[in-house]
Amino acid sequence: MEYSKLVESYEAVEKTQSNLEKTSILAELYSNSGEDLEDTVMLSLGRISPSWEGLDLGVSSKTLVDIIVIASGRSEKEVEEVWKTEGDLGDAAEKMMAKKTQQRLMTQKLEVSQIMERLRKVAEMEKDGISQSVNTDKKKKMIANLLSSAEPREARYLARTVLENLRIGIGEGTVRDALDEAFFDGENSEEIQRAYDMTNDFRKVAEACRAGEEDLEKLDLELFRPVKSMLAQKVETIEDGFDSVGRPAAVDFKYDGMRAQIHVKDGKVKIFTRRLENVTKQFPDVKKVIENQVECQNCIIDTEIVGMKNGEVIPFQKLSQRIKRKYDIEKLRNEIPVEVRPFDLLYREESFMNHSYEERLEALRKVVIENSDIKLADQSITSEVKDVNSLQQKALDSGHEGVMMKSLKAEYNPGSRVGYMVKLKPVMETLDLAIIGAQWSEGRKSGWLGRLKLGCWNKEEEKYEMVGRMSSGLTDAQLEEVTERLKPLIIEENGRDVELKPEVLLEVEYEEIQESPTYNSGYALRFPRLKEFRDDKDRPDSKEKVERLYESQ
Ligand code: AMP
Repeated sequence: MEYSKLVESYEAVEKTQSNLEKTSILAELYSNSGEDLEDTVMLSLGRISPSWEGLDLGVSSKTLVDIIVIASGRSEKEVEEVWKTEGDLGDAAEKMMAKKTQQRLMTQKLEVSQIMERLRKVAEMEKDGISQSVNTDKKKKMIANLLSSAEPREARYLARTVLENLRIGIGEGTVRDALDEAFFDGENSEEIQRAYDMTNDFRKVAEACRAGEEDLEKLDLELFRPVKSMLAQKVETIEDGFDSVGRPAAVDFKYDGMRAQIHVKDGKVKIFTRRLENVTKQFPDVKKVIENQVECQNCIIDTEIVGMKNGEVIPFQKLSQRIKRKYDIEKLRNEIPVEVRPFDLLYREESFMNHSYEERLEALRKVVIENSDIKLADQSITSEVKDVNSLQQKALDSGHEGVMMKSLKAEYNPGSRVGYMVKLKPVMETLDLAIIGAQWSEGRKSGWLGRLKLGCWNKEEEKYEMVGRMSSGLTDAQLEEVTERLKPLIIEENGRDVELKPEVLLEVEYEEIQESPTYNSGYALRFPRLKEFRDDKDRPDSKEKVERLYESQ
């Protein structure tokens, strides 16, 4: 199929806000893609392969500018200027290639398969990591070559694809529905979703859709290809937890670490994150532990990797450095040692997804040989609220997040929050904070102050410091009341922003406290909500209290 056909669909999709229309445009495209369906589906998501394959193009904006320079014959300065005025490198590529078109005879038309093949080659070079500079030059030439065969409109989307940033509002749900419309008259979206959750590969799903329902149903778990992790719903009370998962339930410590789905195939190990990235290289220690302590040639276990040093939990924020780090891995491994806490098993010589959790647990106990680096998640099986309570207390006392409650009878349901597994986190202590600034709202709420800046009190420096911004979570009546109270306190207005005398205090609930590089207190509340006005107090809580709560989470 010609790339211009795909580009026409990109344009049509970009023009509409309606999801239904986007779906129809893609369905039409997929019906007409013939042999190029798999490539077309991937490219419509702006990707050349699923993320877990680790095939990234690794082209920065700066490199793309060089590529446009080579392809268009324009100067770097000119490209940068157009980029600045257009605000988007894809649009800049279009403009630059349009200038060139006037000077050349049209060559052959670009094909979808040709683009996919070339971009995959570039990504494979990147993966193999041949000498960096040779690589970059070769890479630039290969992409420039494609770009110079592109018509201006094609150049625009090609450039964005190369940057891995298509930005036209096509998500996985839209692709699923479009495949459904194209091949099953919109009757099969659940089955397509199941197939996708199982394979995380729209190429495979599309191929099966084209072949028919039977093939789609056959798509199953495969080793070294991650499945979506089963997700947890949140419950407020232990009773609600039991209502959801049944009695007795398995109750685990909820660790504050990184979800890792670990695959063993013929004794070889791969580690995937919850977002399905392959992080095996970043965790050589975990790989080794699995090689030595998991007695199974072919299996998949679901685990939490927890940062632990001298018996103390390392917060996730620190642990996450290990996920991102591509160099100095050994050094970081010593700085941030980890423990593996397995809690589920999806495969042991055959799929265990349809087995009950009870059976999966039994299989898990058989394959994992515990030692100080790998230990099954702390767990009790109980029907009693008081047992869950004491386990939760134990979890919190040892620096963990809370508990998970799990149905013993349920199967493993990838990708969904079906309530087979629920999380119970303790309610955070509230904070009393001052409103130190706000913003005049727009639209329906204009005339009211919103986006309230919340401040705590820094005792040492005797000043207010920002810890959060309350944007939602206020009813109209509350917004009106807040505005009435704040209006007389305005010190200065700057556009829509107002600075306020910090005299109105609120009791604030929130999900958690995070470190913040933007707020001057160094902390940020996640999802702050108004509990009530604190007219009885004239100073907000101190920064020390915020710090203490942060540490205790
Ligand atoms: P949340 O991220 O708040 O939705 O909570 C769900 C996450 O808790 C899972 O994705 C796991 O990464 C993590 N987790 C920690 N301990 C456990 C456990 N024992 N069982 C299941 N998930 C756990």
